[in-house]
Amino acid sequence: MLLLTASVLLSCVTEKKSTSVAAGPGESAKDYLTIDEALSALKIKEAAFQPARFPPGEQKLPRSFSPPYRSIKPLKLFDNLYFTGTATVGSYIIDTGEGLVMLDTGVGDEDAAMMVEDMKKLGLDPSRIKVIFISHEHFDHYGGVQYLKKNVCPDALVGMSLTGWNMLQTVPPEWAYIGPRPQSVDIYLTDGMKIKIGSLLILFVSTPGHSPGCMSFIFPVTDNGERHVVGIMGGSAVWPTQTETRLYKSSVEYFRAFAAAEGCDVGLVFHPRESDFAALRTRKPGDPNPLVIGKEDFDRVYLEKFRDRYRKMLESGGLPPYPQI
Ligand SMILES: [Zn+2]
Repeated sequence: MLLLTASVLLSCVTEKKSTSVAAGPGESAKDYLTIDEALSALKIKEAAFQPARFPPGEQKLPRSFSPPYRSIKPLKLFDNLYFTGTATVGSYIIDTGEGLVMLDTGVGDEDAAMMVEDMKKLGLDPSRIKVIFISHEHFDHYGGVQYLKKNVCPDALVGMSLTGWNMLQTVPPEWAYIGPRPQSVDIYLTDGMKIKIGSLLILFVSTPGHSPGCMSFIFPVTDNGERHVVGIMGGSAVWPTQTETRLYKSSVEYFRAFAAAEGCDVGLVFHPRESDFAALRTRKPGDPNPLVIGKEDFDRVYLEKFRDRYRKMLESGGLPPYPQI
């Protein structure tokens, strides 16, 4: 159903633009949106939204997400992919050749500011951030958007799922929904949507279960010119209810199907530990990239970690039936 909805939406959009993207001999028709097409198609919905106002009140972050933050030393992971973040959560930055794309933004002002400084250390100009895609509607993923828009890249577009944005309009500012929320969204990400920005072609897959609006990402990168495909599951933990755990289970297998079709051979997460990147730091010229695990292990190792989580949750028994928000 989700796929059907997305394909209908995409076909409406591409049909409208089809005169400018005629396929040449041997070429298949374009199946992605340019950033302008993504905007024009979805702005219509935004007019219907009146973002709720949230009281500024005291909102305390969980301890592990509170400052002071310890930066994971920023890293270049591939020719065009970088990581900045803390020991708790971080962002991936893709250099598209036509601006930077940032995936997630950290917890809030402090760690977003730190990540901006870390980007400079990597030789990236943070003012070139053109688009920010948010994996899901939890504070440790959207929290830096306001800081970035105010201080670093005011013209950057913000994309997240419509479900996620709806959640941010309606869920009280507590628990996983505290911290500074995005003030507007420019692009509503839908299941199966592809967007092209410069050299980046990124595919979005709806993977609810960790949160209702959780989106996962698939995109190619290069390592010394060699093509690989990254898959990032947008949410990590399983939420302890029957409904969400079963949704999570379906989402892992749903994402697996897209990852297999696209040939994912690199699996990343938004909550990496320092040790996840240790082998990369000691990599010598000519060594293979240790983040490339291969297509088989993407399923057998990377996705299996997510499967372990829902299995343990289901085995624990006694889960309440419905989401507790
Ligand atoms: Zn989350």
